[in-house]
Amino acid sequence: MTQVMPQATDHGGGVRSLRVPIPDNPLGHTLVYVVDTDRGPVLIDTGWDDPESWDTLADGLTACGTSVAEIHGVVITHHHPDHHGLSGRVREASGAWIAMHAADTAVVRRTRQARPERWFSYMTAKLTAAGAPEEHIAPLRTPRPRALPGLSPALPDRDIVPGELLDLAGRRLRAIWTPGHTPGHVCLHLEETHPARLPGHGRLFSGDHLLPGITPHIGLYEDPDDATVTDPLGDYLDSLERVGRLAPAEVLPAHQHPFPDAAARVRELLTHHEARLTALRALLAEPLTPWQLAERMEWNRPWEQIPYGSRNIAVSEAEAHLRRLVKLGRAEAVPGSEPVTYVAV
Ligand SMILES: [Zn+2]
Ligand SMILES: [Zn+2]
Repeated sequence: MTQVMPQATDHGGGVRSLRVPIPDNPLGHTLVYVVDTDRGPVLIDTGWDDPESWDTLADGLTACGTSVAEIHGVVITHHHPDHHGLSGRVREASGAWIAMHAADTAVVRRTRQARPERWFSYMTAKLTAAGAPEEHIAPLRTPRPRALPGLSPALPDRDIVPGELLDLAGRRLRAIWTPGHTPGHVCLHLEETHPARLPGHGRLFSGDHLLPGITPHIGLYEDPDDATVTDPLGDYLDSLERVGRLAPAEVLPAHQHPFPDAAARVRELLTHHEARLTALRALLAEPLTPWQLAERMEWNRPWEQIPYGSRNIAVSEAEAHLRRLVKLGRAEAVPGSEPVTYVAV
Protein backbone atom coordinates (compact mmCIF):
# COMPACT_ATOMS: atom_id res chain seq x y z
CA MET A 1 0.00 0.00 0.00
CA THR A 2 2.75 2.41 1.01
CA GLN A 3 4.36 3.92 -2.05
CA VAL A 4 7.71 5.68 -1.73
CA MET A 5 8.56 8.44 -4.20
CA PRO A 6 11.78 10.45 -3.88
CA GLN A 7 10.12 13.45 -2.18
CA ALA A 8 6.94 11.99 -0.73
CA THR A 9 5.59 8.75 0.70
CA ASP A 10 2.00 7.78 -0.08
CA HIS A 11 0.35 6.12 2.94
CA GLY A 12 -2.94 5.60 1.09
CA GLY A 13 -6.37 7.04 1.80
CA GLY A 14 -5.36 10.62 0.95
CA VAL A 15 -2.41 10.80 3.37
CA ARG A 16 1.17 11.42 2.31
CA SER A 17 4.33 12.31 4.22
CA LEU A 18 7.32 14.51 3.41
CA ARG A 19 10.70 14.15 5.11
CA VAL A 20 11.61 17.73 6.01
CA PRO A 21 15.22 17.95 7.28
CA ILE A 22 16.17 19.32 10.70
CA PRO A 23 19.63 20.90 10.27
CA ASP A 24 22.44 19.65 12.57
CA ASN A 25 20.17 17.31 14.49
CA PRO A 26 20.62 13.55 14.97
CA LEU A 27 16.85 13.06 14.52
CA GLY A 28 17.43 13.94 10.86
CA HIS A 29 13.97 15.01 9.76
CA THR A 30 10.38 15.74 10.68
CA LEU A 31 7.66 13.77 8.92
CA VAL A 32 5.18 16.38 7.70
CA TYR A 33 1.86 14.78 6.76
CA VAL A 34 -0.30 16.03 3.91
CA VAL A 35 -3.97 15.14 4.41
CA ASP A 36 -6.35 15.72 1.49
CA THR A 37 -9.65 17.38 2.35
CA ASP A 38 -12.53 18.59 0.17
CA ARG A 39 -11.24 22.14 0.60
CA GLY A 40 -7.59 21.50 -0.17
CA PRO A 41 -4.63 19.79 1.50
CA VAL A 42 -4.05 20.22 5.24
CA LEU A 43 -0.60 19.82 6.79
CA ILE A 44 0.07 18.13 10.09
CA ASP A 45 3.17 19.99 11.34
CA THR A 46 5.40 22.00 9.00
CA GLY A 47 9.08 21.45 9.90
CA TRP A 48 12.13 23.47 10.90
CA ASP A 49 12.46 27.08 9.72
CA ASP A 50 15.47 26.79 7.41
CA PRO A 51 15.86 27.46 3.65
CA GLU A 52 16.65 23.83 2.81
CA SER A 53 13.72 22.58 4.88
CA TRP A 54 11.39 25.05 3.17
CA ASP A 55 12.58 23.90 -0.28
CA THR A 56 12.05 20.26 0.70
CA LEU A 57 8.51 21.04 1.87
CA ALA A 58 7.69 23.00 -1.29
CA ASP A 59 9.20 20.36 -3.64
CA GLY A 60 7.41 17.59 -1.76
CA LEU A 61 4.06 19.33 -2.16
CA THR A 62 4.74 19.69 -5.90
CA ALA A 63 5.50 15.96 -6.04
CA CYS A 64 2.10 15.37 -4.40
CA GLY A 65 0.45 17.32 -7.24
CA THR A 66 -0.24 20.43 -5.17
CA SER A 67 1.73 23.44 -3.93
CA VAL A 68 2.32 25.55 -0.82
CA ALA A 69 -0.17 28.11 -2.17
CA GLU A 70 -2.94 25.46 -2.14
CA ILE A 71 -2.60 24.58 1.57
CA HIS A 72 -5.97 25.04 3.29
CA GLY A 73 -4.89 24.62 6.92
CA VAL A 74 -2.07 23.68 9.26
CA VAL A 75 -2.63 21.46 12.33
CA ILE A 76 0.26 21.55 14.81
CA THR A 77 0.92 18.68 17.24
CA HIS A 78 3.03 20.91 19.53
CA HIS A 79 4.96 24.17 19.54
CA HIS A 80 8.54 22.85 19.13
CA PRO A 81 10.47 24.43 16.23
CA ASP A 82 10.92 21.15 14.33
CA HIS A 83 7.08 20.99 14.11
CA HIS A 84 5.88 24.59 14.05
CA GLY A 85 8.94 26.31 12.51
CA LEU A 86 7.65 26.80 8.96
CA SER A 87 3.98 27.43 9.85
CA GLY A 88 4.31 31.21 9.47
CA ARG A 89 5.81 30.90 5.98
CA VAL A 90 3.14 28.43 4.89
CA ARG A 91 0.42 30.82 6.10
CA GLU A 92 2.03 33.75 4.28
CA ALA A 93 2.23 31.79 1.02
CA SER A 94 -1.27 30.27 1.17
CA GLY A 95 -3.55 32.12 3.59
CA ALA A 96 -3.98 28.83 5.51
CA TRP A 97 -5.18 28.86 9.11
CA ILE A 98 -2.93 27.45 11.86
CA ALA A 99 -4.45 25.38 14.69
CA MET A 100 -2.78 24.49 18.01
CA HIS A 101 -3.87 23.48 21.53
CA ALA A 102 -4.36 26.54 23.75
CA ALA A 103 -1.72 25.44 26.28
CA ASP A 104 0.98 25.42 23.58
CA THR A 105 -0.37 28.64 22.03
CA ALA A 106 0.22 30.20 25.47
CA VAL A 107 3.86 29.08 25.24
CA VAL A 108 4.13 30.61 21.75
CA ARG A 109 2.64 33.88 23.01
CA ARG A 110 5.12 34.02 25.92
CA THR A 111 8.06 33.22 23.63
CA ARG A 112 7.09 36.07 21.31
CA GLN A 113 6.77 38.54 24.18
CA ALA A 114 9.74 37.48 26.31
CA ARG A 115 12.93 39.45 26.17
CA PRO A 116 16.04 37.22 26.10
CA GLU A 117 17.28 38.75 29.41
CA ARG A 118 14.13 37.48 31.12
CA TRP A 119 14.82 33.95 29.92
CA PHE A 120 18.47 34.06 30.98
CA SER A 121 17.64 35.30 34.49
CA TYR A 122 14.94 32.63 34.78
CA MET A 123 17.38 29.88 33.74
CA THR A 124 20.02 31.22 36.14
CA ALA A 125 17.58 31.06 39.06
CA LYS A 126 16.30 27.65 38.03
CA LEU A 127 19.75 26.07 37.65
CA THR A 128 20.94 27.60 40.92
CA ALA A 129 17.94 26.10 42.69
CA ALA A 130 18.70 22.74 41.05
CA GLY A 131 22.22 22.79 42.51
CA ALA A 132 24.16 23.44 39.27
CA PRO A 133 27.82 24.37 39.86
CA GLU A 134 28.92 27.98 39.37
CA GLU A 135 30.97 27.20 36.23
CA HIS A 136 27.78 25.94 34.55
CA ILE A 137 25.72 29.00 35.52
CA ALA A 138 28.36 31.69 34.81
CA PRO A 139 27.90 31.79 30.98
CA LEU A 140 24.21 32.69 31.46
CA ARG A 141 25.22 35.94 33.17
CA THR A 142 26.90 37.19 30.00
CA PRO A 143 24.31 36.15 27.41
CA ARG A 144 24.85 36.45 23.69
CA PRO A 145 21.67 37.70 21.99
CA ARG A 146 21.81 35.12 19.18
CA ALA A 147 21.74 32.18 21.58
CA LEU A 148 17.96 31.68 21.41
CA PRO A 149 16.50 29.91 18.35
CA GLY A 150 12.88 30.28 17.24
CA LEU A 151 12.26 33.60 18.99
CA SER A 152 9.24 34.55 16.92
CA PRO A 153 7.07 31.49 16.26
CA ALA A 154 3.80 32.09 14.38
CA LEU A 155 0.77 32.83 16.55
CA PRO A 156 -1.95 30.26 15.70
CA ASP A 157 -5.42 31.38 14.47
CA ARG A 158 -7.44 28.50 15.90
CA ASP A 159 -7.59 26.37 19.04
CA ILE A 160 -7.45 22.61 18.79
CA VAL A 161 -10.17 21.51 21.22
CA PRO A 162 -9.49 18.17 22.99
CA GLY A 163 -11.96 15.42 22.10
CA GLU A 164 -13.51 17.33 19.20
CA LEU A 165 -13.35 16.74 15.46
CA LEU A 166 -11.34 19.31 13.55
CA ASP A 167 -13.27 21.29 10.98
CA LEU A 168 -11.96 19.40 7.93
CA ALA A 169 -14.34 18.93 5.00
CA GLY A 170 -14.74 15.25 4.16
CA ARG A 171 -12.47 13.87 6.93
CA ARG A 172 -12.90 12.66 10.49
CA LEU A 173 -9.86 13.85 12.44
CA ARG A 174 -10.28 14.00 16.21
CA ALA A 175 -7.97 15.86 18.60
CA ILE A 176 -6.60 13.78 21.49
CA TRP A 177 -4.92 15.91 24.16
CA THR A 178 -1.65 14.21 25.16
CA PRO A 179 0.24 16.57 27.51
CA GLY A 180 3.68 15.56 28.80
CA HIS A 181 6.27 16.33 26.10
CA THR A 182 4.71 19.84 26.05
CA PRO A 183 1.64 21.06 27.99
CA GLY A 184 -0.49 21.32 24.83
CA HIS A 185 0.74 18.35 22.79
CA VAL A 186 -2.02 16.68 20.76
CA CYS A 187 -2.28 13.46 18.79
CA LEU A 188 -4.75 13.41 15.91
CA HIS A 189 -6.93 10.37 15.38
CA LEU A 190 -8.04 9.79 11.81
CA GLU A 191 -11.27 7.90 12.48
CA GLU A 192 -11.49 6.24 9.07
CA THR A 193 -11.00 2.65 7.96
CA HIS A 194 -7.33 1.86 7.39
CA PRO A 195 -6.64 1.93 3.62
CA ALA A 196 -5.00 -1.53 3.80
CA ARG A 197 -7.70 -2.71 6.25
CA LEU A 198 -5.19 -3.36 9.04
CA PRO A 199 -7.03 -4.38 12.22
CA GLY A 200 -7.69 -1.57 14.69
CA HIS A 201 -9.30 1.85 14.76
CA GLY A 202 -8.06 4.17 12.02
CA ARG A 203 -4.71 5.91 12.14
CA LEU A 204 -3.06 8.12 14.74
CA PHE A 205 -0.79 11.08 13.94
CA SER A 206 1.27 10.91 17.12
CA GLY A 207 3.64 13.90 16.86
CA ASP A 208 6.47 13.33 19.37
CA HIS A 209 4.21 11.58 21.88
CA LEU A 210 4.62 8.05 20.55
CA LEU A 211 7.70 7.24 18.47
CA PRO A 212 8.84 3.77 17.39
CA GLY A 213 12.46 3.80 18.57
CA ILE A 214 13.05 6.71 20.95
CA THR A 215 11.46 8.16 24.06
CA PRO A 216 10.53 11.85 23.86
CA HIS A 217 12.12 14.31 26.27
CA ILE A 218 9.95 14.88 29.34
CA GLY A 219 11.16 17.87 31.34
CA LEU A 220 9.43 20.56 33.34
CA TYR A 221 7.05 22.87 31.46
CA GLU A 222 9.24 25.98 31.34
CA ASP A 223 7.24 29.05 32.28
CA PRO A 224 8.90 31.98 34.07
CA ASP A 225 5.50 33.45 34.95
CA ASP A 226 3.73 30.40 36.30
CA ALA A 227 4.49 29.00 39.75
CA THR A 228 2.07 26.06 39.44
CA VAL A 229 3.73 22.79 40.45
CA THR A 230 3.06 20.62 37.41
CA ASP A 231 3.79 16.91 36.93
CA PRO A 232 4.74 16.51 33.25
CA LEU A 233 5.90 12.90 33.62
CA GLY A 234 2.60 12.00 35.29
CA ASP A 235 0.76 13.79 32.46
CA TYR A 236 2.84 11.89 29.91
CA LEU A 237 2.18 8.47 31.42
CA ASP A 238 -1.58 9.20 31.57
CA SER A 239 -1.49 10.39 27.95
CA LEU A 240 0.29 7.19 26.89
CA GLU A 241 -2.48 5.09 28.37
CA ARG A 242 -5.03 7.28 26.59
CA VAL A 243 -3.56 6.64 23.11
CA GLY A 244 -3.03 2.95 23.90
CA ARG A 245 -6.78 2.64 24.56
CA LEU A 246 -7.57 4.15 21.14
CA ALA A 247 -5.98 1.05 19.57
CA PRO A 248 -5.23 2.62 16.16
CA ALA A 249 -4.38 0.26 13.29
CA GLU A 250 -1.27 2.32 12.52
CA VAL A 251 0.69 5.13 14.12
CA LEU A 252 2.05 7.92 11.91
CA PRO A 253 4.68 9.63 14.08
CA ALA A 254 6.51 12.91 13.41
CA HIS A 255 9.96 11.28 13.40
CA GLN A 256 11.42 7.92 12.29
CA HIS A 257 8.73 5.76 10.59
CA PRO A 258 5.08 4.58 10.82
CA PHE A 259 4.35 1.46 12.88
CA PRO A 260 1.41 -0.78 13.87
CA ASP A 261 0.40 -1.89 17.40
CA ALA A 262 0.36 1.32 19.41
CA ALA A 263 -0.63 -0.61 22.52
CA ALA A 264 2.58 -2.68 22.47
CA ARG A 265 4.73 0.44 22.11
CA VAL A 266 2.77 2.11 24.93
CA ARG A 267 3.44 -0.89 27.19
CA GLU A 268 7.18 -0.72 26.37
CA LEU A 269 7.32 2.96 27.26
CA LEU A 270 5.35 2.52 30.49
CA THR A 271 7.73 -0.29 31.50
CA HIS A 272 10.76 1.85 30.58
CA HIS A 273 9.58 4.76 32.72
CA GLU A 274 8.66 2.53 35.65
CA ALA A 275 12.16 0.98 35.55
CA ARG A 276 13.73 4.42 35.34
CA LEU A 277 11.76 5.72 38.32
CA THR A 278 12.80 2.66 40.34
CA ALA A 279 16.47 3.20 39.40
CA LEU A 280 16.30 6.88 40.35
CA ARG A 281 14.68 6.08 43.66
CA ALA A 282 17.62 3.73 44.37
CA LEU A 283 20.05 6.60 43.65
CA LEU A 284 18.17 8.68 46.23
CA ALA A 285 19.36 6.45 49.08
CA GLU A 286 21.49 9.52 49.84
CA PRO A 287 20.07 13.06 49.52
CA LEU A 288 20.78 14.58 46.08
CA THR A 289 20.06 17.86 44.33
CA PRO A 290 18.40 17.57 40.87
CA TRP A 291 21.83 18.36 39.35
CA GLN A 292 23.54 15.59 41.31
CA LEU A 293 20.77 13.19 40.31
CA ALA A 294 21.21 14.14 36.63
CA GLU A 295 24.96 13.47 36.91
CA ARG A 296 24.26 9.97 38.22
CA MET A 297 21.37 9.04 35.90
CA GLU A 298 21.90 6.86 32.85
CA TRP A 299 22.10 8.85 29.59
CA ASN A 300 23.12 7.88 26.05
CA ARG A 301 26.72 8.84 26.91
CA PRO A 302 28.80 9.60 30.02
CA TRP A 303 27.93 12.87 31.79
CA GLU A 304 31.38 14.37 31.02
CA GLN A 305 30.61 14.09 27.28
CA ILE A 306 27.17 15.70 27.44
CA PRO A 307 27.32 19.20 25.94
CA TYR A 308 26.21 22.30 27.81
CA GLY A 309 22.69 22.71 26.37
CA SER A 310 21.92 19.01 26.71
CA ARG A 311 22.88 19.15 30.39
CA ASN A 312 20.15 21.73 30.95
CA ILE A 313 17.68 19.39 29.26
CA ALA A 314 18.98 16.47 31.37
CA VAL A 315 18.50 18.42 34.62
CA SER A 316 14.97 19.32 33.55
CA GLU A 317 14.32 15.62 32.95
CA ALA A 318 15.74 14.73 36.37
CA GLU A 319 13.41 17.33 37.92
CA ALA A 320 10.38 15.90 36.11
CA HIS A 321 11.24 12.46 37.53
CA LEU A 322 11.67 13.93 41.03
CA ARG A 323 8.25 15.61 40.78
CA ARG A 324 6.75 12.26 39.87
CA LEU A 325 8.48 10.40 42.73
CA VAL A 326 7.39 13.07 45.23
CA LYS A 327 3.83 12.92 43.92
CA LEU A 328 3.84 9.12 44.29
CA GLY A 329 5.16 9.42 47.85
CA ARG A 330 8.38 7.61 46.92
CA ALA A 331 10.73 10.56 47.58
CA GLU A 332 10.63 13.85 49.44
CA ALA A 333 12.52 17.11 49.77
CA VAL A 334 14.92 17.30 52.74
CA PRO A 335 13.59 20.11 54.97
CA GLY A 336 15.96 23.07 55.23
CA SER A 337 18.34 21.88 52.47
CA GLU A 338 19.67 24.67 50.22
CA PRO A 339 19.81 24.03 47.29
CA VAL A 340 17.05 21.56 47.94
CA THR A 341 17.98 17.87 48.05
CA TYR A 342 15.66 14.90 47.68
CA VAL A 343 15.78 11.52 49.38
CA ALA A 344 13.88 8.25 48.93
CA VAL A 345 11.14 7.45 51.45
ZN1 LIG B 1 8.99 17.98 20.41
ZN1 LIG C 1 10.02 16.63 17.30
